[in-house]
Amino acid sequence: MRHRRLGKDKRMAWNAEKSNPAAVAFRAVRPLRSPSDPMSASPLVIGKFSLGMGDRFAHEAEAQLAACLAARKLGVEIVPVWNKSNREHNIIGSEPTSTRAAADAAVKSLGWTAPYFLDADHIGLKTVDRFVGVSDFFTIDVADFIAQPADPAAVKAFVDRHPELVGTLTLAGIDRPFTTTRADVERTAAKFLLAVQEAGKVYRHIAAVKGVGRFVPEISMDETDSPQTPPELLVILAAIADEGVPIQTIAPKFTGRFNKGVDYVGDLAQFEREFNDDLCVIAHAVKKYGLPANLKLSVHSGSDKFSIYPAIRRALARHGAGVHVKTAGTTWLEEVIGLAEAGGDGLALAKEIYAEALSHMDELCQPYATVIDIDRARLPSAAEVDAWSSAQFVGALRHDQKNPLYNAHLRQLIHVGFKVAAKMGPRYLGQLKACRESCARNVTLNLLERHIRPLFL
Ligand SMILES: [Zn+2]
Repeated sequence: MRHRRLGKDKRMAWNAEKSNPAAVAFRAVRPLRSPSDPMSASPLVIGKFSLGMGDRFAHEAEAQLAACLAARKLGVEIVPVWNKSNREHNIIGSEPTSTRAAADAAVKSLGWTAPYFLDADHIGLKTVDRFVGVSDFFTIDVADFIAQPADPAAVKAFVDRHPELVGTLTLAGIDRPFTTTRADVERTAAKFLLAVQEAGKVYRHIAAVKGVGRFVPEISMDETDSPQTPPELLVILAAIADEGVPIQTIAPKFTGRFNKGVDYVGDLAQFEREFNDDLCVIAHAVKKYGLPANLKLSVHSGSDKFSIYPAIRRALARHGAGVHVKTAGTTWLEEVIGLAEAGGDGLALAKEIYAEALSHMDELCQPYATVIDIDRARLPSAAEVDAWSSAQFVGALRHDQKNPLYNAHLRQLIHVGFKVAAKMGPRYLGQLKACRESCARNVTLNLLERHIRPLFL
């Protein structure tokens, strides 16, 4: 069995607070069939620490899993979650079945016996169906529904149902109590209720096909303009519990910029304070509203955010909390680094990818406009890069901020440039095979040394 079963203690926690309407809704999650029925499995539960890994061209699953295997030998369990969004599948021209095949093959080849998951990343009602068969983790993205007007009667009913959210709220672990008025809660509910209702629709759609408890549901609200504050998160979680969605991970938008492939930009102290407060809000909501006991934060675009890793690490230790860190394109960048490092045809192809990306910059950046900051003046010309040695190319691209050759602008451009490689098709895949050793080595080392080690080891 690939997945960890829910322990007896957790099952009991799941069913805590029977008087609470939310807890009643979650009773549906409990297996109803007899234990001898193979379909009576307890809900799938994701472990404390998990790493979302993207594998755009389905060639790196083994190298990625090797990082989790190394972490395991070093004493920490990291649950691998392979994620690929509908947008990525469309750009690359792949199907979710290919992600499943690559993950299963890597698991078999390396003899991985612990749980692992496949994340249907950023799906909604319109895009979920192609993932339903093969995925067992669903990132239900409702960011587009935030701030869309909810039914005023539903908002009123929500606030009436939750008088505990109004007034002075003292949460364990948070020094300053939250002070909220009824109008504040109404405003927050009005902003998020429709999004939560939409998440309920998507959740029930998936559950109708896969069965309740047969997948890990996440709700994501990260792809929006303004961050959700910890008091807003509490209201959102109360609404999610009311909606009966047994989420195990939630991805809010955090304060600061989470640009693709590069470090965090923002107020580190504020991030740390809010991240800690979010953990306290989650612990509170689990008890108060009967949400799954393993509910944890999911940090999207979490790769390469080296400056906040110490804060995340401290917060997890302080609260004994788990986390899901979703990487974003960092493995694709390591493939290009691996090609460049191999020299010869590999380096030539890496240079060609850069030149193509540079000449199609507007088109490539457009879908990612809000999550990249590229200063065109800092991008070297294609001719300049063409003259680079392997070490120069690798130095510019590898995320080593101490290296004077490192260029965050070039890195972001190549980050969004995977479409160029997708268009190259067999030529790109051929070089991935030819440069297997250096690609795989860079993929593993990046996840283990730059991500898993500072966060978890
Ligand atoms: Zn996201």
